Amino acid sequence: MKLLLVEDEIQLQGILAKGLKKCGYAVDTAGDGEEALELFEVNEYDLIILDLSLPKIDGLEVLKNIRKSNHTIKILILSARSDTEDRITGLDRGANDYLVKPFDYDELKARIRCLLRQQVVMQETELTVAGITINLARYTVKIGDEVLPLTKKEFSILEYLMLNKNKVISAEQIIEHVWDSEADLFSQSFKFHISSLKKKIAEKYPEEVIRNVRGQGYIIIEDKAVI
Ligand code: CA
Repeated sequence: MKLLLVEDEIQLQGILAKGLKKCGYAVDTAGDGEEALELFEVNEYDLIILDLSLPKIDGLEVLKNIRKSNHTIKILILSARSDTEDRITGLDRGANDYLVKPFDYDELKARIRCLLRQQVVMQETELTVAGITINLARYTVKIGDEVLPLTKKEFSILEYLMLNKNKVISAEQIIEHVWDSEADLFSQSFKFHISSLKKKIAEKYPEEVIRNVRGQGYIIIEDKAVI
């Protein structure tokens, strides 16, 4: 899952970006409203964390601009402005959630998970597809009762494919949602991670879970025999 973090307090931005990357998210950062809109134009994000008091273009203006072209992306406002009026304006302009600074980091993470789950209409932190269960809060993967140890990249690729089950997802789409925009990525690196993921699953699971669709991408099909 790829997030855009818009925050002009550099120290807070750094801490948050580092923490969220640790959780397995791909994170791009913007230090002002203009940069946020520029990044939004060229990248595909799953969620935007948006500060309101920003240089160049104010957060509420950024929000309005994003909503003009995109109604589905999740937007969480993170702001020191606690006025009810600001909250109402933010929510009216299409923010999905609002967290007032100072905030609890665990609460922020929980709210991000909750918003990302809504995208796929999922109620639980656990998701089971084709006999594989992933826990989105603990970043663990199980096949039956057996734990499957994955790297963060492998987990993120698997998570993205599972959230989009029964759909063919291209390598470009996976890269777009799993890697930061700044990542120095060669297709070789993607191939390395996906083949290592497939290999790990194959060691524990008799069926091919992640299938290659020649020339198109990858798919996980839901109605496979469950272990
Ligand atoms: Ca600010």
